[in-house]
Amino acid sequence: MNFDLVSPTTTEDLLRAIDEHRGRRFRFGAGYTDLLLDLEEQQDNELTVINLARLNDPSFTSIVHDGGEMRIGALVTASRIIADRKLQSRYPVLCQAAGQHGSRQIRHTATVGGNLCTASPAGDMACALVALRARCDILPARGDARSLAVSDFFLGVRETDLKEDEVLRRVIIPTDDGEVKTHSDFIKIGKRRSMECAVVSIAYHIESDGDDTMTRAGIAIGSVAPTIKYARSACEYLVGKRLSSLGPSERDEFAAKVVEYASPISDIRASAWYREDVLFNMSKSILENH
Ligand SMILES: Cc1cc2nc3c(=O)[nH]c(=O)nc-3n(C[C@H](O)[C@H](O)[C@H](O)COP(=O)(O)OP(=O)(O)OC[C@H]3O[C@@H](n4cnc5c(N)ncnc54)[C@H](O)[C@@H]3O)c2cc1C
Repeated sequence: MNFDLVSPTTTEDLLRAIDEHRGRRFRFGAGYTDLLLDLEEQQDNELTVINLARLNDPSFTSIVHDGGEMRIGALVTASRIIADRKLQSRYPVLCQAAGQHGSRQIRHTATVGGNLCTASPAGDMACALVALRARCDILPARGDARSLAVSDFFLGVRETDLKEDEVLRRVIIPTDDGEVKTHSDFIKIGKRRSMECAVVSIAYHIESDGDDTMTRAGIAIGSVAPTIKYARSACEYLVGKRLSSLGPSERDEFAAKVVEYASPISDIRASAWYREDVLFNMSKSILENH
């Protein structure tokens, strides 16, 4: 491993560092749980790592609930997401996904921004954020910030929409303060119970009114396509129906709609057939027992 390290502490210094490294080889480092593996393999003597871990700007480091939105800084770790009371009560899917991330040590350093920017189809917090229809708040070295749906942020395996001079500042979940009943969780199937990358995962966040009618539904699936997918038609199928009244044929119809978004491959960990079959059964199961 041979690289230069710069550690800005303010956003102004960060943006200057990005600008100065334009056209040269550089990477951002946050919790380093992914990056370290890349750095171990890299042979490039010209590489600079712009270390985000020393940044002292609340927009990157805090969780803020402000009226119509929940803002989570890119440097917030999985452990902090798990411990946040507001997230626990409002968005269980995100806390469950963070809770299944690696080991305790990994959860203490792995950041939500790193999970998104790695753009793995198996990213757990990323899958939950797609289900929640969160948006990325992206800061360029020069000019104005831009906002992009998390589902549009992923372009391919380990490929994002971030430009060379852009950094992910935070993710924003649209929220409303009204009383809603939530049915929200993250299910991950792996080969063992911990320290495991998902073979198939599903994140769901369903909100219902007092009458049990579903008013909002977000379903995302992981490890079954090159990127995490938002199962739009399956979500639309649920809205307006009563969760407790769905029968077996409706659950099958819903699961078939979810599977339409999958294009799994067979690899050393599971066959495409297995992934698709498990996804169908998982999708049905989330609507059972109500
Ligand atoms: C043992 C182990 C177990 C793991 N288990 C899981 C698991 O269960 N589930 C799971 O989803 N992942 C898992 N991972 C992968 C990893 O922990 C996550 O992807 C993590 O969220 C990455 O965050 P980080 O802060 O460590 O990112 P880093 O490693 O610091 O960075 C990852 C990538 O994102 C870029 N980046 C980071 N922050 C920003 C930013 N703000 N703006 C622009 N680019 C940025 C970096 O340049 C790099 O390319 C595991 C990894 C290990 C080593």
